[in-house]
Amino acid sequence: MIDIAFCGGVELREAYRQAQADGYALMANNIAETNILVGLLEGYTERRSDLVVQISAGGAKFAGGGDKLAGLRVLSYQVRELGERYPINVFLNLDHFTVKEMDLIAEVIENRLVSSIMIDASKEDFEENVRISREVVRMAEGSGVLIEAELGKIKGVEDEISSDEAFYTDPEEAVEFCKRTGADLLAISVGTEHGVSKGRDVILRTDIAAQIHDRLLKAGLSIPLVLHGTSGLLAAQISEMIRYGICKLNKDTRYQYEYARAAYDFYTAHADSIVPPAGGEADTTGLFSGSDWSPNKDNFDPRVVGRAVRAQIRRVATELIDQAGSGGHTLFKGS
Ligand SMILES: [Zn+2]
Repeated sequence: MIDIAFCGGVELREAYRQAQADGYALMANNIAETNILVGLLEGYTERRSDLVVQISAGGAKFAGGGDKLAGLRVLSYQVRELGERYPINVFLNLDHFTVKEMDLIAEVIENRLVSSIMIDASKEDFEENVRISREVVRMAEGSGVLIEAELGKIKGVEDEISSDEAFYTDPEEAVEFCKRTGADLLAISVGTEHGVSKGRDVILRTDIAAQIHDRLLKAGLSIPLVLHGTSGLLAAQISEMIRYGICKLNKDTRYQYEYARAAYDFYTAHADSIVPPAGGEADTTGLFSGSDWSPNKDNFDPRVVGRAVRAQIRRVATELIDQAGSGGHTLFKGS
């Protein structure tokens, strides 16, 4: 048993409670490799915000060279080791794990590899969603790992999950769902989409979010609400959702774009260091020893483009923290 003592679910529950009480949210930021993680740690430290990072099943598979559990162990260890070196609390969530990954979920809970897990059974019918979500909540009992479940369907493609249509969360069902599953967090569907979307074209059903929030409170359930697919939302839409009890905003696509853009800009600006002049021999076997031209190691070392990516992610992270309002709200480190 590895037993990685993370910033656990108890602290994370407190972080969400504080966010809900003080009217801000925590972005939950997807990672699958080092550059985005380091950029996030730096941006969150700059703004003194606690940090939630998350790993999708596809991200775990990528990090593990095809082996999800190996990838989860590697990333979990990396997040903890690096997180300890920054003056903020760092939490780790599993994003969109499904019934196909039950064995993996059991392993992750047993070894305390994460602070929280999202079980996504939203494509099942209501009863089956309740049954699967309840089962994962039961598996996590006593472990300190929080469980997020989803009700309603979010349109679009994210990683291994896709839905052609959106189905809004029913406020009445949300109360029954939370009571029966015992989930710690509830992801709702109110019009956002996974992947690339344009906020100006998204019809956000804030009325549904308000009803869900209201009915849960009346039923004595102060459950943090989660919004997925927020990458394309406008700043005003984000603040509106926070007013309705959303305190976890998932963010993946934006970082993917910024990663590609930073790398593209860097390689475009330094093309002469990497690509031989037109008509030049493509003599890569001997690293151009037969040509007059030589590539420039100062620019093709992957750590150099990696630094450009990290700097870009850091900038974007601070911008998004300002949107979510979590700057300056770090819990006491080590609590
Ligand atoms: Zn999602």
